[in-house]
Amino acid sequence: MSNTMSGPVHLGLPPEWPQPVRGCRVCAALAKQRAEAAGAGDQSKVSDCNVEISRHMEPHPRRRR
Ligand SMILES: [Zn+2]
Repeated sequence: MSNTMSGPVHLGLPPEWPQPVRGCRVCAALAKQRAEAAGAGDQSKVSDCNVEISRHMEPHPRRRR
């Protein structure tokens, strides 16, 4: 368990937030929703978005070039 510091959201993503996958429109949409929810102080929605993003990680195909 980690200490949760109470304070304003700093620039950048909190380390515990899953990163959206680049090039994925779903992840981008979720990340946008999450940012908006965070801006509105809606922590429960932020958590929802985090769950959805982390779940969306798995179905992503590996990057191919
Ligand atoms: Zn995605």
